[in-house]
Amino acid sequence: MNLRERDSKFVWHPFTQQKNMIESIVISSAKGSYLYDENGNAYLDAISSWWVNIHGHSHPYIAQKIHEQASQLEHIIFAGFTHEPAVTLAERLVNILPGNFSKTFYSDDGSTSTEVAIKMAIQYWWNVQSTVGGQQSTGRKRLLAFKNSYHGDTFGSMSVSDRSVFTLAFHELLLDVIFIDTPNESNFESIKREISKHGNEIAAFIYEPLIQGAGGMKMYDPVLMDELLLFIKQKNIVCIADEVMTGFGRTGKLFASEYLQTKPDIICLSKGLTGGTMALGVTACTENIYNAFVNDDGKKTFFHGHSFTANPIACSAANANLDLFEQNNVMQNVQFISDRNIAFAQQLRQLNGIKNVRCLGSILAFEIEQGEDVYLNSVSAVLTKKGLDKGVYIRPLGNTVYIMPPYCITNEELDIIYSVLLDLI
Ligand SMILES: *Cc1c(COP(=O)(O)O)cnc(C)c1O
Repeated sequence: MNLRERDSKFVWHPFTQQKNMIESIVISSAKGSYLYDENGNAYLDAISSWWVNIHGHSHPYIAQKIHEQASQLEHIIFAGFTHEPAVTLAERLVNILPGNFSKTFYSDDGSTSTEVAIKMAIQYWWNVQSTVGGQQSTGRKRLLAFKNSYHGDTFGSMSVSDRSVFTLAFHELLLDVIFIDTPNESNFESIKREISKHGNEIAAFIYEPLIQGAGGMKMYDPVLMDELLLFIKQKNIVCIADEVMTGFGRTGKLFASEYLQTKPDIICLSKGLTGGTMALGVTACTENIYNAFVNDDGKKTFFHGHSFTANPIACSAANANLDLFEQNNVMQNVQFISDRNIAFAQQLRQLNGIKNVRCLGSILAFEIEQGEDVYLNSVSAVLTKKGLDKGVYIRPLGNTVYIMPPYCITNEELDIIYSVLLDLI
């Protein structure tokens, strides 16, 4: 059996209906913006391999740091022990994160980073209220989230994600979440009324700042979002920014929360955190949140952790990622992609058959006017296949086509991506 056949026989792929599945493409290597398959075909990775890769594939500097760390200390239990890569990373993150963050909690990926944030926020209220009342309180347990959001696939993170085909089988098992629309001029007052109705039952509000990724690259107004955040903060609701996708330059600033005046109490990071090389999640919080857990009462401990919490190799990769931001003009590359995307968007807006052309930082998105605006729209698979045949890897979300390239992408490589997109339309 060749590799493709062994894959079909033994492997179950994510987000993939295995029945009548098209055989997976075997990727043998990747370098910069390119993926190479077993037959030597090259594909431009226009979506940074599910939004994680930011400096290009197989980056020599990150690879070297991973190698060095793996040869020195590959892993160690993180309770009762610590290590330099984790401490250094925590310190560096606290210094650059958008807000008054003081502590960094490690986990494994984006879903666990939001799962941890949700548990932290709920237990924060449990800890605080049991102090005040002298007994266990049933106070704030509900959560607030945006419709159309995506925060991950574990139970807590799935609960605060939009109810969709992703969550269908689990609906009656999910946490109690109030969903609101992203703010616009016409719904703003009714959103505020909805929140006011439940104000002191809500433990936390979780949001993807400025752009909802898996929900279809939907962008919303930062000015109204700022007003909304301020309103929510006044109700003492813990604000959780899910920057798993937007973090590390994606939107044109190091973090999307930098576009907003009101800063979160908790922030979630993954994807670009290690330059897209290793699985690692971070949930950072303010001193106020953290202090609610520091207590003589052992029951107020945060009882959460993973076998691989703060894996030294992953932390080293993340430190190498931050080195690259410090040493190279990474944000200038993002600006360059952003400028080119904006110019290309103007061109796209002249065309028939597509709508809602929009840009933010290195992200460009639009909808194909064919079928419904839903994830299961079959146009996605068709476009992915056609793109691959032309040497460009895109993976539309239903009929929403987007690009989100690694920041190392060149002028010529962008030309290729744009011309393939025009062909596909
Ligand atoms: C991808 C993503 C997640 C989930 O991260 P995983 O590493 O895939 O578990 C959570 N939130 C946002 C905004 C994401 O884009």
